[in-house]
This record gives sequence, structure tokens and C-alpha cells, in this order.
Amino acid sequence: MLLQVRGLHVNLPDQGERLHAVRGIDLDVAEGETLCLVGESGCGKSMTALALMQLLPRGAQLRSDRLHLGETDLSALPERKLSQLRGRRMSMIFQEPMTALNPVFTIGDQLRTVYRRHTGASAREAQARAIEMLESVGLTNASLRLGQYPHQLSGGLRQRVLIAMALMCEPEMLICDEPTTALDVTTQAQILRILKDAQTARKMGMVFITHDLGVVARVADRVAVMYAGRIVEQGDRASVLRTPAHPYTKGLIASVPRPEGAQPGTRRLASIPGNVPAFHREDARCPFLSRCPARMDVCGAVPPPLRQVPTGQVVSCHLSLDLLEPVPA
Ligand code: SF4
Ligand code: MG
Repeated sequence: MLLQVRGLHVNLPDQGERLHAVRGIDLDVAEGETLCLVGESGCGKSMTALALMQLLPRGAQLRSDRLHLGETDLSALPERKLSQLRGRRMSMIFQEPMTALNPVFTIGDQLRTVYRRHTGASAREAQARAIEMLESVGLTNASLRLGQYPHQLSGGLRQRVLIAMALMCEPEMLICDEPTTALDVTTQAQILRILKDAQTARKMGMVFITHDLGVVARVADRVAVMYAGRIVEQGDRASVLRTPAHPYTKGLIASVPRPEGAQPGTRRLASIPGNVPAFHREDARCPFLSRCPARMDVCGAVPPPLRQVPTGQVVSCHLSLDLLEPVPA
């Protein structure tokens, strides 16, 4: 397994308390595979991504039973080794490219620096590599672009530059946190294609974070549905999207607007009532309890078991296996 995560927890300082943002999750990503991490905002997706990169904000605490990239135990590496690994074996692409690019340096400075820092290449080699990578993500006039500053490029071009930067050193693993959310539909489709092509060419593993099920349908091999810091359902794309089992996944999929039948103004009616709860203490009860239309007495008393349903995915829920609907009285 390329990336193997067991029992990952993250907690953060929150007004004198600790916010338990990621509450014991397990993930596996194989070579060449894309795992989509889906869920509403505030579910802990970005914190999971930052934890994988070991780039958590100040004051955050991370613990895990296992956090391995190939043979490397990421949790045991000192910061110096981690910073050698980031950008080389494992890279990340963020939602807002402006925050990830430095506004005071040219595109060329930034690309060359990444490459030289990790490979010790000469300036000339780094320049050639930067041009090659910009071309590979579909930028025309690559050598001209290298002299430009981030603000001189559109959002879509900046995102391409970030992809080029993330791929400069041929990482084994790419973490993408909502990389297309800020882009228009056409640009989004182009970026998804570039990422998929880059992945196929390199057999790179990807963790792809999104709240957009249309994007999931296009890029995922497997899907992990996250809710309030937990993974509530995990399985291959077809079974999760076509035969969702967990009540939260069902709600998410039911809330996708369907163009044929949708009336203006009906989008909100279909969304799941309530908000994602925040947890400050260890709490083993079902995280979806407060919003679940199918909840039973047991859900508030006993942690939901992890089970495999007949369509293949693993679900954390008390509902009976045959239906994963309440058993009719
Ligand atoms: Fe709903 Fe209970 Fe299943 Fe949680 S465990 S999703 S509350 S039925
Ligand atoms: Mg996020």
C-alpha cells in the first residue's frame, strides 16, 4: 500500500478547549489510485489533508496508530526529513492558488527553487524542468510565463502552475484539497483531466478532497465519506454513489440538484437539515445522531459498528445490514 493511515486523530485549540477535528480515521491509497474524501465543509477533510502532509496549524496535536508512505513511517520523521519529503515524495495542491504562490516572486523563481532545493539541480537544469512541466500542464508560451508574477495569471492558469510545481519532483503521492472549487466549469474540467493524465503517467496515488459529487464521479476510484471527523462510509466509487448505505451518504446524494426535475429554489429543501456538530471530547456515539432521520435508541448509547454491506462498502451504522434502512415494525 502506498499510503496507509490507521487511527488518525487531530485536535486543535479552540477557545480554551480542544476541538477534536479528526477522530480516528483509517485510509488506504494504492499506487495509481484516487481516493476521494467527501463531506460538507467542517467535516475535517482539510485537517486530514494537512495531517497527512504534517502541515497542521500551530497548537494542533496529531496522533495515529499508523501513518506510512510506502515503507516510511511519517510519524517518526523529524521536521528536517519531513521537509525533504514534502514536495518530493508527497505534494499538495490547495483550493486557492493565490495563497500557495508567493506574490513577490515570479513563477519561474518559484518553480526553479522547488526543483533545486529537492534535487540539487543546476539553474539551467531547473529552468528546463520548469518549462517542461508548464508545457505538460498545458501552458503555452512557457518560457514567457516563467517571467510573470502570480497576479498576472488567471485563476485557472495559477492552478496549472501549482500543479506543475507539485509535480516538479515526480511525487508518489498527491493530496488535492478542493483544487477546482474556485474555478469555472470549463477550467475545472481541464484541471481534472490534467490531474488524471499526470496520475496515469506516473502511477501516482491521489487523495482528492471535494464536496462536489460530480467531481467524485469523474475522478474517484474509491470514496471515503467523512462526517464530523469520522469516516462513515468507504468503498468503491460505483457502490458508494449508486447504492449509498449510510444515512449521511444517502442525504448527500439526495441533496445533489438534478437538472431535469429541479425547480428554482428547491436546492435548499433537498439539503440535509442541521449543521455538522463540533466535538470537544472523546465521543464514540454516532456522529450523525443529531441529524439522522433513521436514528434509534441504540445510536445514542453504543458506538456504531463498522460493517461491510452487500454492495461492498464499509459502513459505520447501527441499521440492519439487509437494508440499512430501519427494519419495518
Ligand atoms: Fe443514523 Fe443510528 Fe446509523 Fe447513526 S448509527 S447513521 S444515528 S441509524
Ligand atoms: Mg476544506
